[in-house]
Amino acid sequence: MTAVQGDVSEHLEIVERAMAELSLPGRAVPVRKPAVLEEVAALIIPGGESTTISKLLVKFGLFEGVIERVEEGMPLMGTCAGCVLLAKEGDEQVMATGTRLLGLMDMAVDRNAFGRQRESFEVDLDIDEIGSARGVFIRAPAIRRVWGECEVLARLEERIVMAQQRHMLALTFHPELSGTTGVHSRLLELI
Ligand code: GLN
Repeated sequence: MTAVQGDVSEHLEIVERAMAELSLPGRAVPVRKPAVLEEVAALIIPGGESTTISKLLVKFGLFEGVIERVEEGMPLMGTCAGCVLLAKEGDEQVMATGTRLLGLMDMAVDRNAFGRQRESFEVDLDIDEIGSARGVFIRAPAIRRVWGECEVLARLEERIVMAQQRHMLALTFHPELSGTTGVHSRLLELI
């Protein structure tokens, strides 16, 4: 997982648990260097602040490498701020901050889409092929629309909160805080 910002230790722990459950060899490692990015079989870009993560990916020399590895077939999961970075289109906030998106998935996102009153909340979601999962939303974005090869996996009210495009997963909540391994296992199954 990119370890420039976000809930890195929680993700690492859940990935290790999911690997044990699936009897997969290997381990979960933080990625801060291009040389490490070259070695991983899959990557998570966690939540945080999309503007900051984007800048740090450039600063750490990871931005172009992530795009290249994904285009070669490496599975990638973006959660919350990571979901924003995967999108091809951002909202006015993304434009106003000049945030460079990785632009890998056929989707448009709205930052902070759930408003001030609902800055953070938890809810049970029904995710295609995963089933019920606890969604922890923290100043969460929403996926406004998908097109092309991108498919919706979960909605909350009318908003899209999880999508998949081939070997890429984007979710607007924090699966590392749910205590369950379903979402991370799905990423590992894409390897
Ligand atoms: N609001 C943040 C952003 O758009 C995302 C919040 C999060 O990752 N928890 O960058």
